[in-house]
Amino acid sequence: MTSPDRQLDDELRELYRELILDHARNPRHFGKLAAATHFAEGINPLCGDKLKLYLQLDERQNIQAASFEGSGCAISIASASLLTEVVRGLSVAEAEAWFTAVTSHLAGSGDTGSGIDLGKILALDGVRDFPSRIKCATLPWHALDAAVHKHAVPASTE
Ligand code: ZN
Repeated sequence: MTSPDRQLDDELRELYRELILDHARNPRHFGKLAAATHFAEGINPLCGDKLKLYLQLDERQNIQAASFEGSGCAISIASASLLTEVVRGLSVAEAEAWFTAVTSHLAGSGDTGSGIDLGKILALDGVRDFPSRIKCATLPWHALDAAVHKHAVPASTE
């Protein structure tokens, strides 16, 4: 285990962009969500990322709020932080579409035809040059997929 700072300096210098660093150092919506109705845990054994994602859905199954907690590398934390910003106000179906769009985009399979403007999520594009890091970036999205389906088992990238 190398320290996060050393990882940033040595291993992934060119991968990170300012937005990613900002979200990794100051994650948005970090912590338990008191009014959570849905929950899932995401684990990426390859990197050691472990995140819990909380969602608050209203009676119409729209996501009112999202938060996360846990520990992981800068990419997984930044991706989770961005996720909690993006999913607010989405319906479950829209969240599903985002899950598909983000995971296939980061896996490099190109345009999914979803019509979704990934916006800030494109800041994660650097992982596409580092295949071992793709799972770090997609982990929170797998947790999102699991949470909206109330999967009982932890989401895993494996
Ligand atoms: Zn990671």
